[in-house]
Amino acid sequence: MKSGFVNIFGRPNAGKSTLLNALIGEKLAIVSSKVQTTRHRIKGILTTEACQVIFSDTPGIIEPKYKLHEKMMQAVKGSLEDADVGLLIIDINDNWEDCDAIFSALKLKVPCIVLLNKLDKANEEKIKKATSFFAAKPYCTEVIAISALKGLNTEKLLQLITDKLPEGEPFYAPDEMTDLSERFFVGEMVREKIYDLFEEEIPYQTTVLVHEFKQKTGLIKIGANIIVQRETQKSIIIGEGGRMIKKIGSEARKDIEKFLSQKIFLELFVKVRPKWRENDIFLKEYGY
Ligand code: GDP
Ligand code: MG
Repeated sequence: MKSGFVNIFGRPNAGKSTLLNALIGEKLAIVSSKVQTTRHRIKGILTTEACQVIFSDTPGIIEPKYKLHEKMMQAVKGSLEDADVGLLIIDINDNWEDCDAIFSALKLKVPCIVLLNKLDKANEEKIKKATSFFAAKPYCTEVIAISALKGLNTEKLLQLITDKLPEGEPFYAPDEMTDLSERFFVGEMVREKIYDLFEEEIPYQTTVLVHEFKQKTGLIKIGANIIVQRETQKSIIIGEGGRMIKKIGSEARKDIEKFLSQKIFLELFVKVRPKWRENDIFLKEYGY
């Protein structure tokens, strides 16, 4: 048996969350076309006959603009330290030099596989060029072109990863998919709807905290607070006559019921917490 920790690094929108979902086969990490949706280290656990791989999807590598971003950078560094294998993922149509600069700056010591993602959006010629570009870099032990979205070469990638993992007993029971609570994922699913339904600023000013998660007969009762920074944002989230918050609730409910395989009753509240992103106590309470 082989087992170990694998961390997925890459710029926002490279396809980290999509890859994690493709490998684990469950909607664990939230996926969005907007950047910076992943604020936490999300672990997904894959157990097969031959191996156990514990994946972590890190936040996009960004400048620490707010305190929140500093926490994100700490999370990136934290994952660097405990990995057996690193996956450095790029959008093949992104600027290779920029990606290389970021990967080089991380000064990685673990063996790293460079993933050229979105191969469905590139021609042979480009894939060949990118492969030789990254293969020559000191941090790179292997290059593979994949499509996380279409599941192209993901099995081959899993084989490459397994080859590099140390021999050892599994860390988690085989039926454990993740060590994070269901409560956390439920919050993420509500947050994902906010990303889907609102423009630019709102999602970045918002977080979601699940405060109630109770098993009742036939359903789970879930209560979540949507935290915003200003009253004006609160009214946008609620919408005219509660139109928007109803929409968030009904769309999130569908995903959550699918995820938990159970009926739920979802109650959403909107709370104003001025400057929650700058406040250490709030950040801690909200799990950052
Ligand atoms: P992250 O920020 O690195 O976690 O990136 P996401 O996983 O959220 O993906 C960003 C966007 O790229 C989403 O719209 C995905 O659907 C899209 N995407 C991810 N992988 C692929 C791929 O292989 N091909 C294509 N065409 N799009 C992809
Ligand atoms: Mg992501």
